Amino acid sequence: MPINTNNPSKKSWLKVSKDSDFPIQNIPFGVFLTRDDIITIGSRIGDQAIDLGALHQLGYFEGIPLTDDIFLQDTLNDFISGGKKTWRAVRNRISEIFDIDNPNLQNNEDHKKVILFSMDEIEMQLPVQIGDYTDFYSSKEHATNVGTMFRDPENALMPNWLHIPVGYHGRSSTIVPSGIPVRRPLGQTFPRGADKPVFGPSRLVDFELEMAFITTDANVMGEPIAIDDAENYIFGMVLFNDWSARDIQKWEYVPLGPFLAKNFASSISPWIVTLDALEPFRVESPEQDPEPFPYLRQKGQNSFDINLEVAIAPEDEEETMVTRSNFKYLYWTMAQQLAHHTINGCKINSGDMMGSGTISGPTPDSYGSMLELSWQGTKPVQLKHHKQRKFIEDHDTVILKGYCEKNGARIGFGEVATKLLPAHQNK
Ligand code: MN
Repeated sequence: MPINTNNPSKKSWLKVSKDSDFPIQNIPFGVFLTRDDIITIGSRIGDQAIDLGALHQLGYFEGIPLTDDIFLQDTLNDFISGGKKTWRAVRNRISEIFDIDNPNLQNNEDHKKVILFSMDEIEMQLPVQIGDYTDFYSSKEHATNVGTMFRDPENALMPNWLHIPVGYHGRSSTIVPSGIPVRRPLGQTFPRGADKPVFGPSRLVDFELEMAFITTDANVMGEPIAIDDAENYIFGMVLFNDWSARDIQKWEYVPLGPFLAKNFASSISPWIVTLDALEPFRVESPEQDPEPFPYLRQKGQNSFDINLEVAIAPEDEEETMVTRSNFKYLYWTMAQQLAHHTINGCKINSGDMMGSGTISGPTPDSYGSMLELSWQGTKPVQLKHHKQRKFIEDHDTVILKGYCEKNGARIGFGEVATKLLPAHQNK
């Protein structure tokens, strides 16, 4: 089935501003709570949320094999299990329904009343029940910077890094959507100059600028996913802030890798943008030297040109953009990550989430974490109104944004904005 949604000249009868992340070419998927406290699966055009449950009940998906309750659920997992053909058929249909030349819904005020919501009358939820969460470490610039700071500038990249898309299994229990505040974690650290570890609130809370992809059921246990097939099992992508406590991380990470420094919170943007929508923005990924093993070899354009930004807003103040990066800088592609993840027979399920790892660019103004931007706190980052930050302070809000732009066409992810609350206090 062809993708009929990407034509940049296509217009919707719904109003879309020129700088919107959600033109009719995007058609992302999410889950939201309506003004009547009903949870539904939806999409979005401009600043209008579309209740797909209501659209389906009113017969607008006729001819597409869908169960009656597929959109009347509080997660997208079952819909994602339907596979790429289903996602594409539904997006193609939504694109037709909201096309400026289609009068059906456009002229039906009664239907519009139950199908459309303005963004300020709904509450976005976590879009999937995330079974497993894996975080990769796929930015060469980030791995080099961290290796330089935490270990040895001469041997910043570990010997395995250019051969393996390095990753670790994280926790899905503390992944939350944009708008849910997170708490500064408590933990053990070993401050420089101390002679024994200390316990208390982390002093070095950081963001990580990442993206994550969401999978569908892909394989049975024991069977790898072939690299050329891997993208067929990726439903879409979100912005991903992988909150990190650098002081806890530095003390705990040897020898098994990150643990409590990473699993206290990760925040995602609520709309899942499909790979089909991102198709026009494909680019080549960085050249790989040494050439990877055959199970990781790919030809063609396997990355996406996605502009990424992070801003920090202190309480009651305007935000300052602190970095600009791009998804295309990642050394290992999503297909390579998924092929590697399953080469041993590991099973992937519908709704699993895979983080890219911090996406740092080649220049100091494109680094993807405060650890790198402030170079371990030695170079404070300037904010507006003469403020500065080495790491994230209590009541700061961290905002990640991402969008693609080409020949005047724009597709975006919206944002993930999260406030950091002070550490938990025992009463
Ligand atoms: Mn991470």
